[in-house]
Amino acid sequence: MTTNTVESTPQAAPPRVERVAAEPQAGDEIVVHNPATGDVIGKVPVLSPAEVVALVERARKAQKAWGALTVEQRCNRLAPVKGLLLERLDDLAEAISRENGKTLQEAMTMELMVALELLQAYLKRAPEALAPRKLPIRLAKHRGSYLHYVPKGVIGIISPWNFPFSIPFGEVLFGLLAGNAVVIKPSEVTPLIALRLRELFVDAGIDPELLHVATGRGATGGALIEAGVGHICFTGSVATGRRVGEACGRALIPCTLELGGKAAAIVCADANLNRTAQALCWGAFGNHGQVCASVERVYVDERVFPELRDRVVAITRKLRQGNPMDDVDVGALTFPPQADKIRALLQDAKDKGAVFETGGIPEPGARFVAPTVLSNVHHGMRVMREESFGPLMPIQVVKDEAEAIRHANDSDLGLLGYVFSSDTERARHIAEQMQAGTVMVNDVLASYSMAETPWQGLKASGIGRTHSDDGLRDMCECRHVNYDRFSLGDRELWWYPYSPKTRGLFKRLMRFLYGSGLTGRLG
Ligand code: NAD
Repeated sequence: MTTNTVESTPQAAPPRVERVAAEPQAGDEIVVHNPATGDVIGKVPVLSPAEVVALVERARKAQKAWGALTVEQRCNRLAPVKGLLLERLDDLAEAISRENGKTLQEAMTMELMVALELLQAYLKRAPEALAPRKLPIRLAKHRGSYLHYVPKGVIGIISPWNFPFSIPFGEVLFGLLAGNAVVIKPSEVTPLIALRLRELFVDAGIDPELLHVATGRGATGGALIEAGVGHICFTGSVATGRRVGEACGRALIPCTLELGGKAAAIVCADANLNRTAQALCWGAFGNHGQVCASVERVYVDERVFPELRDRVVAITRKLRQGNPMDDVDVGALTFPPQADKIRALLQDAKDKGAVFETGGIPEPGARFVAPTVLSNVHHGMRVMREESFGPLMPIQVVKDEAEAIRHANDSDLGLLGYVFSSDTERARHIAEQMQAGTVMVNDVLASYSMAETPWQGLKASGIGRTHSDDGLRDMCECRHVNYDRFSLGDRELWWYPYSPKTRGLFKRLMRFLYGSGLTGRLG
């Protein structure tokens, strides 16, 4: 069997595609702000389509030597990234917090630890996950088959602002482990941290030509799709995801789409309410609610609603919100225009009778939104149907599990789901009925940090997956080789010449192979 030192399939010339967004003007730049204070913290250029094509070409050249290494050799070359990341923890956490507005603790646990776990797990697992895979063949015993994994060339990563380090990090790591070069188009809201991420790999000894960052807005992302890359990993909103999927379709390149979520949490009457209330608060308010997997709605059994609400309210009232670089629990909204969306959802809920147990409607353009718990909500309210991406926790009372499952599945989105019950068997039964790419029992968000598990959306939440062995293999062309284990002579029976004798032989053979019972088979 071959190893994956084989050359990638050359990509077709970039197609001529009508551009969705306006072309950037020469000298255009993005001014980056600290979302908690509004201070300017940097500037980056907006790359033109020609500059993006040039970066992809440089990456493609560097990929030749990198793709020719064995997976083990690539793991050895990438190993120093781990040590350097450990050395830079404080520095990187501050850079993330300053640019994104999340607390220092969230920068450590939700961003840097996720990256370290991916390194720890996959520097070891990658050779096995990418090893050729033998396929069992029932009929043609004289032939063997296997799949082998060949790098796709250059992977294009288009990433969002809510996890500016850990999201592109996982895709960069998997792209490189699989033998590709990588070009990242980070969010225009948080581009600086992507430059720090590249610096980390380069300082750890990775060829600078293998990993590039193309800063810019939507048009730069569009240009990356058309620049002749072998695969696009996109993470962002459903609306942009559709455009990216269409553009990848026109370019006929595969894509992974990680899109929005509206995760439902079902709380059964037998749940450990102390643990459940703490999990719900962290799941709804962590990262200021700007998590695709956030607890966006809760369905609680009517028998335990009052007690759960009181516990959730008590925890929420104790949360300290403020400058994320200080000792606080909840930081700032990363993207202030997001406050308008949250305002609209909360106004609609208020108009339709929701009770504000904590928090309230934020001012337009607010930099901080107070964690807001709502009760007396229903599916006629936008807050139960649209992704809020803010620190909101609407709680709806239900009669039983069946009603909770029905509501949970009444959504266009299907990224994460959560179930709380002391009876694991029962919780798993509920989990299996939820239409979500991942359902966690008695926990929230954390499966993202379990590197071996897939991160994947159903319905409008996405296509494909990141993390896990399958996510790593998606970074490769999966090629199939079918070969002769031993020869059956000069020709196979079904080749020329055809004759009534061979037809009769095949008829008897098919009865023997596919008939039922001894008489059927021998008849
Ligand atoms: P967004 O869709 O506005 O932007 C994402 C990226 O796409 C940015 O880099 C942006 O510049 C780029 N882009 C915009 N227009 C483009 C175009 N026409 N072609 C190519 N690229 C283009 O998303 P956002 O506001 O940065 O992120 C928030 C959204 O991301 C939320 O909906 C959230 O749920 C989702 N998200 C999903 C996951 C997941 O794993 N499923 C993870 C994080 C965030």
